[in-house]
Amino acid sequence: MATQYDLTGKSQATFLGHPTGLFVLFFAEMWERFSYYGMRALLIFYLTKHFLFGDDKAYLIYGAYTSLVYITPVIGGYLADRYLGARKAVLCGGIFIAIGHFLIAITEGPTGQNIFHLNGFYLALSFIIIGTGFLKANISVMVGQLYPRDDLRRDPAYSIFYMGINIGGMLGPIVCGVLGETMGWAWGFGAAGVGMLLGLVVFVLCRPTLRGAGEPGQPLRLKERSGLGISQEWTIYLAAALSVVGIWGLIRYQDVVGYALLVFALATVVYILYRIFTTMTKIDRDRILAALFLIALNPLFWGLFEQAGSSLNIFTDRRVDRSILGWDVPASVFQSVNSLFIILLAPLFAVLWTWLGRRGKEPNTAAKFGIGLILIGVGFLVLVGGAAAAGANLTPVIFILGIYLFHTMGELCFSPVGLSAMTRLSVGGIAGLMMGTWFLATAAGNFVAGLIARATGGEGAGPDTVLEVYSRLGWAVMVVGVLVVLVSPVIRKMMHLDTLTETGPLPGANEIAEPAAVGYSINGEQR
Ligand code: GLN
Repeated sequence: MATQYDLTGKSQATFLGHPTGLFVLFFAEMWERFSYYGMRALLIFYLTKHFLFGDDKAYLIYGAYTSLVYITPVIGGYLADRYLGARKAVLCGGIFIAIGHFLIAITEGPTGQNIFHLNGFYLALSFIIIGTGFLKANISVMVGQLYPRDDLRRDPAYSIFYMGINIGGMLGPIVCGVLGETMGWAWGFGAAGVGMLLGLVVFVLCRPTLRGAGEPGQPLRLKERSGLGISQEWTIYLAAALSVVGIWGLIRYQDVVGYALLVFALATVVYILYRIFTTMTKIDRDRILAALFLIALNPLFWGLFEQAGSSLNIFTDRRVDRSILGWDVPASVFQSVNSLFIILLAPLFAVLWTWLGRRGKEPNTAAKFGIGLILIGVGFLVLVGGAAAAGANLTPVIFILGIYLFHTMGELCFSPVGLSAMTRLSVGGIAGLMMGTWFLATAAGNFVAGLIARATGGEGAGPDTVLEVYSRLGWAVMVVGVLVVLVSPVIRKMMHLDTLTETGPLPGANEIAEPAAVGYSINGEQR
């Protein structure tokens, strides 16, 4: 334990050199991801084996759900920046998510497409979608709010947080997958709900360790009555509950999700451009533009990476020899392999970056993104090569492990690096929005992933179509990766890292009411 920097000026305890609040966020997000990935590991099988949808329709619903889950964080981020603060948003989101998981369990019903149970299921998904909107971007922003903008512990903090994400991501599919595929679907989905509840308990009980991070900027304004006669805060919660109904309508028309995405993405980018060109200095503007470049790579990265839960999950179920030491491992359990590799490899990557850093050879953020894309391509080619070598036989499990290994290394160059960059490059007041936009681009990735999955197994696809698609995409993404590495020096310049210092707290924290938290300066300019 030691004393460290604090938003309120008070000395506070630390653990492993980091504020203890980091570990509270770690556990809360771990349980949230346990529920998300646990439920998601079962989802494609629930659709094809319980509701008896064909592959094509199942991929469509899966793609719509996984995109919507990442579209809503942009609204959640905006509402937290302007009104709620991240902490209240996370709490509200967790409650919605838990309700959603329990609702899937309760509405299971008999096998087949019974209209009542199917609608109950769609309603449950809508709760999770709205809940994730409030939670995901905001809890990620809160990590950054524990540190000053130029604090060197910031990148390691996101790596530690990312470990929490992946411990949840590893345990969820194992617990929920085994329960769901062996004891009954409701057991698996119910377990996901229990996980989210545990996360909420940690978050609520350990609030003091957050030291005011994520508190609303204008708490009094939140208490003011809205036109409905209730407080502003409760008006937001009411609107959230009503939007569950809206999403419920939308999710039944999965084709519309693509248009919703497009409209949202355009509106968000236009709004961000408006903000940076009207209120920011040239340097901050450059930084946000650099952040937008990184964000723009998300649809490609996640579009390929997210084959994991859909087409790769189905490939594993049908075409891979899954027996390990005499146990026929359920396909959904393989959904935890990626997270397991992250847990094993993240410390090695941390050491590698530091080692390279000391020699002045650490790749810059954009170059890491390029390397991440190249690794995604290599992963696909490994699987395609292995399947081709197996010929008419089942593909040996080692090649599935191989694709996940390369995809995980790619993710480590991409995702935690990107999260950290979002809060570092954002100035106060738009940190939640930028993080939300990061996830919005992930939503586009999940939508693209749905399209790709349908190309692998939809109408007119032969048994080897999946491998042809993987091979073509593998080569293409490697080319894009190389191009990104080539332009990375320009992006690095736009980040103005040499002047990325400040004397007070960090982006997002300027909404905190304490006098110490306002009026911090970046590049010598008072805000
Ligand atoms: N696996 C990470 C998480 O769940 C990243 C997911 C994403 O951004 N698509 O947070």
